[in-house]
Amino acid sequence: MTHPDQTPLEERCPDCHAGIGQAHREGCDVARCLATGLQRLGHGACRCPQDVWTGRWPGEAECAEFGWMLGPGLPDLHRLLTTATWDPVAYRWTRPTAEGDTR
Ligand SMILES: [Zn+2]
Ligand SMILES: [Zn+2]
Repeated sequence: MTHPDQTPLEERCPDCHAGIGQAHREGCDVARCLATGLQRLGHGACRCPQDVWTGRWPGEAECAEFGWMLGPGLPDLHRLLTTATWDPVAYRWTRPTAEGDTR
């Protein structure tokens, strides 16, 4: 058994170099729009709060939690973006509730 959720944390955002718990700089590729969960670049007039670097790629924790890993340290972010639903209150992805997706 592997433990895909135990990939080591990255101390700095790979794009804007924000530390863990620090807000990404404006224009960072990694930062998410907290209203939609999508890339913050281009969220336009949206006034969501700053996203912070958590030490993990956005969505990685959720992929690990849902078991959507392609391999150790390789979250299936495509599946997350196409299948999961962003919760704009909790600032995290939620698993689809549709029956029959218990794989
Ligand atoms: Zn960043
Ligand atoms: Zn936004």
